[in-house]
Amino acid sequence: MINITKPYLPDREKLNEYIDGIYDRAWLTNNGPLTQELTQRLEKYLGVENLLLVSNGTLALQVAYRAMGVCGKAITTPFSFVATTSSLVWEGIEPVFVDIDPETLCIGSSEIEEAITPETTAIVPVHVFGNACDIEEIETIAQKHGLKTIYDGAHAFGVQYKGKSILSYGDATTLSFHATKLFHTIEGGAIIFKKKEDYETAKLMTTFGINGSDSIVELGINAKMNEFQAAMGLCVLDEIDIIVEKRAKIWQQYHKELEDFLQIPLLKKNTSNNYSYFPVLFQNEETLLRVKAALNEQKINPRRYFYPSLDTVSYLHLHQNQEISKDIASRVLCLPVYPGLEEFEVQSITDIIKSCLLTKKK
Ligand SMILES: *Cc1c(COP(=O)(O)O)cnc(C)c1O
Repeated sequence: MINITKPYLPDREKLNEYIDGIYDRAWLTNNGPLTQELTQRLEKYLGVENLLLVSNGTLALQVAYRAMGVCGKAITTPFSFVATTSSLVWEGIEPVFVDIDPETLCIGSSEIEEAITPETTAIVPVHVFGNACDIEEIETIAQKHGLKTIYDGAHAFGVQYKGKSILSYGDATTLSFHATKLFHTIEGGAIIFKKKEDYETAKLMTTFGINGSDSIVELGINAKMNEFQAAMGLCVLDEIDIIVEKRAKIWQQYHKELEDFLQIPLLKKNTSNNYSYFPVLFQNEETLLRVKAALNEQKINPRRYFYPSLDTVSYLHLHQNQEISKDIASRVLCLPVYPGLEEFEVQSITDIIKSCLLTKKK
């Protein structure tokens, strides 16, 4: 069986050593030494400051909205994992969708301005599949209208934009370290803040708003990363260059085999590839379903990332849909990419896809 991804399991002996240390100290959570070490090593590896580790990528978004004072309405993209939207709704913020750019699959910056109303307090764009949003345009709009920008960077681990970390743009950027992501801590996430004071506010929020031991100074929640998560993260981080290299090889093989047959979303100029996803676009949903069924028959399980378009989610009760996002969501498929996926397996995946595309509908 070949699934869309397979969680990366790092060197077991090294992990055991970290766990021995946790046993010796009996310090399991609450900003322990491994959490501190992972924070420092991630800041260095990613080239960022003010990085706050949290227990998952969804809480990273929720805490970021709170710390930045987001309320009322936020402009966001309908083409993402559901957590981008559900985290807003969960925090009582109304998502206002702006349709996507059909080439990069990120929010279309030219229509953001007309979606702004007096209730709008933030823009929440997503660097979809690690591709950069229109960062400069979004920054100009946010400044002009006094809005906060919080990027969902769950796919953008290690991506460079114009020679610096893509995570350093905006007022804050969130990451997910879920087991299925490029870098993981089993469950986990992080927020990178532009300003130190926002980092401090958020840190307080992740520990119930308790400052020191006796004073409650802020409305908080529990969003702490624990030492076992940090131990996994430290082990995976040691192997991150190998992980990216192996993904790159798979990515390039898919690209070479499929570029003449299928539309592959374009990487924006000045953006580095972290090879975390390999999305392809079929001509229509019927073809996608035919290819998916043929792959499933051979126990190969690609995923419809992202489907459905989030503006169609029932609890939002929206009646006006975003046409480009709906269209793309109906015919986009992500192919399996993970270290350990063999060359011959990628070959058989691309062979199945090509033979499906070449045989006409019966
Ligand atoms: C994975 C993901 C999340 C949620 O992260 P979790 O760590 O699973 O809570 C949010 N946004 C996007 C775009 C994601 O892909």
